Amino acid sequence: MQQKIVARVLLGIIAAIASAGAQAPAPVRSRPHVEFLASEKLEGREAGSTGERLAADYLAAQLTRIGARPLPGRSDMFLPFEFTAGSRDSGSVMAISRAPRLADGVSGGIVGDIGIRALPFSDDADVAGPVIFAGYGIVVPESQNFGYDSYATLDVKDKIVLVLRYFPEDADDKTRAILARYSDLRYKAMAARQRGAKALLVVTGPRSPNAGELIPMTFDTALAGSGIAAASILGTGAQAILGSTRPLADIQRELDTGNPHVAGFEVPDVTVHMKTSVIRERHTARNVVAYLPATAPTANRPWIAVGAHYDHLGRGDKGTSLASKEEASAIHAGADDNASGTAAVLAITELLARFAQPRRRHVLVAFWSAEEIGLVGSNAFVAKPPVPVDQIAAYINFDMVGRMQDNRLIVQAAGTSPAWSGLLERVNAAAGFDLAVQQDPYQPTDVATFNQSAIPSLTFFTGSHADYHRPSDTAAKINYDGLDRIAVMAASLVRAVAESEDAPLFTKVEQPATRGATMAGVRVTTGTIPDYATEVKGLLLAGVMGGGPADRAGLMKGDVVVEIAGQTIANIYDYTYALELLKADVPVRVVYLRNGERRETQLTPAARR
Ligand SMILES: [Zn+2]
Repeated sequence: MQQKIVARVLLGIIAAIASAGAQAPAPVRSRPHVEFLASEKLEGREAGSTGERLAADYLAAQLTRIGARPLPGRSDMFLPFEFTAGSRDSGSVMAISRAPRLADGVSGGIVGDIGIRALPFSDDADVAGPVIFAGYGIVVPESQNFGYDSYATLDVKDKIVLVLRYFPEDADDKTRAILARYSDLRYKAMAARQRGAKALLVVTGPRSPNAGELIPMTFDTALAGSGIAAASILGTGAQAILGSTRPLADIQRELDTGNPHVAGFEVPDVTVHMKTSVIRERHTARNVVAYLPATAPTANRPWIAVGAHYDHLGRGDKGTSLASKEEASAIHAGADDNASGTAAVLAITELLARFAQPRRRHVLVAFWSAEEIGLVGSNAFVAKPPVPVDQIAAYINFDMVGRMQDNRLIVQAAGTSPAWSGLLERVNAAAGFDLAVQQDPYQPTDVATFNQSAIPSLTFFTGSHADYHRPSDTAAKINYDGLDRIAVMAASLVRAVAESEDAPLFTKVEQPATRGATMAGVRVTTGTIPDYATEVKGLLLAGVMGGGPADRAGLMKGDVVVEIAGQTIANIYDYTYALELLKADVPVRVVYLRNGERRETQLTPAARR
């Protein structure tokens, strides 16, 4: 899954580190920053909220105190951007009319208004037309050499397409694993649109989880529609379209084998008239970006950038909260995620500002907003970069660096440059962390944005934990000593790059196949919290969600899961793959190691909505 890493050493960087050890400046303290950012007053720093604005003001004031400046040509440090804070259906409607068929005595007329809800990425549209049922609406690209195309025998041009949600229920594991990857609703909408369909209707089949229900209007950051009207309808509505002679359960059962030759069909004598309407709530959030100017002639060397997202989940009502029922709507303090990274970047900036030696590159300091809803802030930055992207030599990111345990520090995305591994080893010689260097830059944090822009980057992380995305991620639980030490180590890393004549080279890391899919294929939750820091064979649990499936199965922090439902689990990727194959409410055997002893239990996955 990984590219070859050329063991290459940049001599300039070594020289810079050698000279850096001598005069360490007075220590900085990250604690006050974390305590302020995670305080009740900031209400969880949700992008676009009052709390987020207060946090941004605080960051700009701190940067000014430290001696950082607004970017050249700008009068302040705020880079506002617009984003979609939520979507809701604003009155989509549908009617079904059936032509009379006098011959067999079926009466015509309008069946009536049917429950419908737009999908969050739907266009606003008013369309009418005949209906084609297209099975699961899945098209596996030819490059996959698999041969599954729900549209193979259908002409859906100017028709309304009706499809099932998810993917065939009874197919063998391999088939399900492939089809799951192409079952995302956006992907289904795209497939329908590319074939000229007027609209897409989705029904959750009677044999699937959440049977017959409308699909919740989940969070979607799209600024506009996807180019097609798309909506979910009730099971009863789908049955009304198909007519009483063809029970949807029978149709689905046939498709559920995964047999690619089970074809869809045109529904006779029916016209659907539908109107979709989605309101997207637009908000403004702010990235806070400043720089420490170079203090020595630079001959226009590219900049080095450091950054962290400062937004969090507010009260957690937008989707990615993992709060338990009792914790619902409480402020999500986000002390580790990511007041810790924000504080680290402030501390690093302060350390860099205090160093006496000349700085040979400008240092860009960035605090991103709207990371939690899909890396929106950092993407807004690279989409309209105030500093040309090719003038950024490297980017160092910090996300969740406040929970150091056993001296373990994880540095990810090291595969983006051959310079990183040697450089990390050298700065760590002074810091003495138990370092876990991981190559993969496709991480769910802003480092992914910079990797996409071909900028060598790294992201620092101290591991996941049971308070992740819950109100209990509080300032009291932060390891401040560890956090301050990370800031010192990272500051010497940034200095080393700033001092060096050569910028790190960029290496493209191929995206691992198992990570290409979104979580869309995963329909169940096991309530486990993986430990990403420790390299073990199997899935080491950093914890379990209280009351969740793993908790009920008796699994605990420290257990190593080695097998689920007959699938061997060697690493986190195997685990994600195995998850795609589990079914809600169907118990599976889990084999795990506890203190080296092999045990097993039954785990019953729960449905994700
Ligand atoms: Zn987060």
